[in-house]
Amino acid sequence: MTNFDFDLFVIGGGSGGVRAARMAAQRGARVALAEAAGKSGLGGTCVNVGCIPKKLYSYAAHYGHAFTEAVGFGWEKVQPSFDWETLKSNRRSEITRLNGVYEKLLLGNGVEVINGFARLLDPHTIEVATEEAGVQQVTAGHILVAVGGTPSVPDLPGCELAITSNEIFDLTPFPKRLLVVGGGYIASEFASIFTGLGSQVTQLYRGAQILRGFDDDIRHFVAAEMVKTGVDLRLNADVAAIARNADGLQVRLKDGAGLTVDAVLYATGRVPKVVNLGLDSVGIARNENGAIIVDAGYRTNVPSIYAVGDVIDRIQLTPVALGEAMVVVDQLFGPARGKPARSMSYEFVPTAVFTQPNIGTVGFSEAEARANFDAVSVYSSEFKALKHTLSGSSERTLMKLIVDKATDRVVGLHMVGADAGEIVQGFAVAMKAGATKAIFDATIGIHPTAAEEFVTMREPVADKC
Ligand code: FAD
Ligand code: NDP
Repeated sequence: MTNFDFDLFVIGGGSGGVRAARMAAQRGARVALAEAAGKSGLGGTCVNVGCIPKKLYSYAAHYGHAFTEAVGFGWEKVQPSFDWETLKSNRRSEITRLNGVYEKLLLGNGVEVINGFARLLDPHTIEVATEEAGVQQVTAGHILVAVGGTPSVPDLPGCELAITSNEIFDLTPFPKRLLVVGGGYIASEFASIFTGLGSQVTQLYRGAQILRGFDDDIRHFVAAEMVKTGVDLRLNADVAAIARNADGLQVRLKDGAGLTVDAVLYATGRVPKVVNLGLDSVGIARNENGAIIVDAGYRTNVPSIYAVGDVIDRIQLTPVALGEAMVVVDQLFGPARGKPARSMSYEFVPTAVFTQPNIGTVGFSEAEARANFDAVSVYSSEFKALKHTLSGSSERTLMKLIVDKATDRVVGLHMVGADAGEIVQGFAVAMKAGATKAIFDATIGIHPTAAEEFVTMREPVADKC
């Protein structure tokens, strides 16, 4: 590979790209990474306009309830006021700090960081348009495409007036009336966040229930909890047109109803960010959604070019992009000293939706389990968390286990409730290790917690098969 400028050229400084570049350089490879958004884009979607700022805003939203709930515990009633500009500014500082951490990680490991938009010219040549040095051409033995995705907004009259998750973090002024369109992760999370921050939020979903693909009981339960917190959730509803007038944005729905809001957030999915990337000129195969097709080792049909993360559209989550990147690095440059080469499995990938309350989930939904196993047992528990006996909140918690009867293995674990993501992460380890219901039953609970309920559910509630 010595005839090339680099052993590995990474396009995209997001979750997958930074991890791959850094680990490959640690293995002794000569690595360069191009990031179109420059230094302030390092960390990609997750750091700049995704997981991290979203979670910070979610924490902010939770404080809204904390003041009221504290009164039941003896704290004096206060009339809190929320300053959107402070939250935005503090978030910006933290993200800038993180961009710097990512830059240091790359430079510290000897990665050459190029601030510019990269495009493939041939299987080993990349062109990068930079502000500092104009257009450069570089060659590499291997190229990793980790360009992520971008929000997709359906074409409808007035769609240019809508915003996406890219703009919501810095919206000015604070949207007192917000319409959220979509029923997936982003729509549901932002409906909860802005309700918690004090907006009047309407969430429109075109289908019968939000969060398609999640366990049905979890979907219905979280939707009901979100409505209790103040989200005006409208199902089987969609936008026909958006127009601006003196009072704000006039939104006409397909059923003829109308709404006036300050902002319309479209959260209707994301598409691979592949425009002008040169994929077609190099002949890289893509699927009908535009996602790059890769084999089990993340190699495209052009043998020197690999792709990971949202651009291959397997599971759009940061830890998944990180896992995929590690597989590529181990394959190309060998595993870390004393460790086996990493592999990536898409089974039992845990995930959380940071709604109010959160969803945490791992494994099969009840419907998927019934389709995949001959017979399953379902255990379920719904209760008011101890905290809310004094807080005055009517929030309830739901926990559910799905067990394959033939093997006794727990194949689905789902929760709606406070800190569900934190709780489910630990159980995901047990499930990955193949834990059976008998092992759950033999595990001693931690008392008093909500999580102990997962090891104390004894009677199946819906033994249909
Ligand atoms: P990205 O992180 O998107 O990085 C791609 C990078 O490539 C970008 O920086 C882009 O500027 C750069 N780029 C693109 N084209 C070029 C080019 N031609 N040349 C040079 N650079 C280029 N996941 C979770 O696990 N948990 C969460 O809580 C979570 N919350 C989310 C919230 C929101 C609002 C969004 C939008 C996403 C969230 N995700 C979450 C998903 C997560 O952010 C993505 O799965 C993850 O960032 C994908 O990483 P990636 O490396 O594939 O791409
Ligand atoms: P999702 O795929 O999760 O949801 C898209 C939503 O938009 C669905 O409800 C879909 O409906 C609806 N939709 C799609 N097209 C249209 C349309 N033309 N008109 C009306 N509604 C439409 O995408 P998101 O944008 O919410 O998020 C993208 C990905 O980012 C997620 O899938 C997830 O992987 C990741 N993410 C992860 C988070 C986390 O880990 N907490 C947080 C945020 C994002 P239908 O179901 O009917 O198709």
